[in-house]
Amino acid sequence: MRLRRRRVDAYAAAPSWSSRASTRRGRPSPTRAPPGYLEWGQVGGEDGGALPTVHVGSGAQQLVTPEAVTVIRYAARLRMVPPPSARDALATFVLVAALRRRADDRFPYLSTGNEPAPVTKDDPTQGIDLEKLRREAAKYRQELRAGRRGADMVPPVPVSPHNKRISEAKSVDVRTVLTRLGSSSDDGNLWHCPRPSRHSNGDQNPSMKVYGDNRTRCHRCDAEKVGPIRLVIDVLGVTPDEAASFILDSDRVVDMRPA
Ligand SMILES: [Zn+2]
Repeated sequence: MRLRRRRVDAYAAAPSWSSRASTRRGRPSPTRAPPGYLEWGQVGGEDGGALPTVHVGSGAQQLVTPEAVTVIRYAARLRMVPPPSARDALATFVLVAALRRRADDRFPYLSTGNEPAPVTKDDPTQGIDLEKLRREAAKYRQELRAGRRGADMVPPVPVSPHNKRISEAKSVDVRTVLTRLGSSSDDGNLWHCPRPSRHSNGDQNPSMKVYGDNRTRCHRCDAEKVGPIRLVIDVLGVTPDEAASFILDSDRVVDMRPA
């Protein structure tokens, strides 16, 4: 027995195993295959069944003998008969998976222990092939990732001319739009409402306030702050497209005027 960093390697009889394998999901080291070749083994369940059977302690004290490690690690296929308690079953599975793992996982079959002896290496009657499930799940995850990558490669869709026009209209100064609607202001902040008929005195005292985010609100007519498009829609009773045309084309008229 010797210490190598934090890992304790113990050599006993032919097989060797690492104490670390039982406490942490790692690779037992050093690895040396036992003489002979075991095609199938079983961990847990009744002794004297169809297969060479080894046992591991359940619960916190998971005692693993060198013989058990050899079978669990080196059997080409392994049936695992879980203990009755779900907690012990999971602990046993984690231990078995850690012992079997080499470059990649090699999960056992989940078995009752009562299946007849397997006739081939990949006998489908030996219980649930957890390794097959694991590989299929990994493949499925890979396909999902590939699918997402494909979606990311779709080039951005350019903004449609229609939406661009609406967006342009929204960015026109709302005070320009108010002027265009026949409204006026003494200070640029408070404006006479362009819907005077809705006000008892024709909005002699200006009710519309212009805010810094290019929105405005008449405290009598508007439930909330509105931008250029919604203002024109409400004042003129037009559609959003017509409102955009009103705003943008009015600008063009203004621009064409001689300075
Ligand atoms: Zn108003």
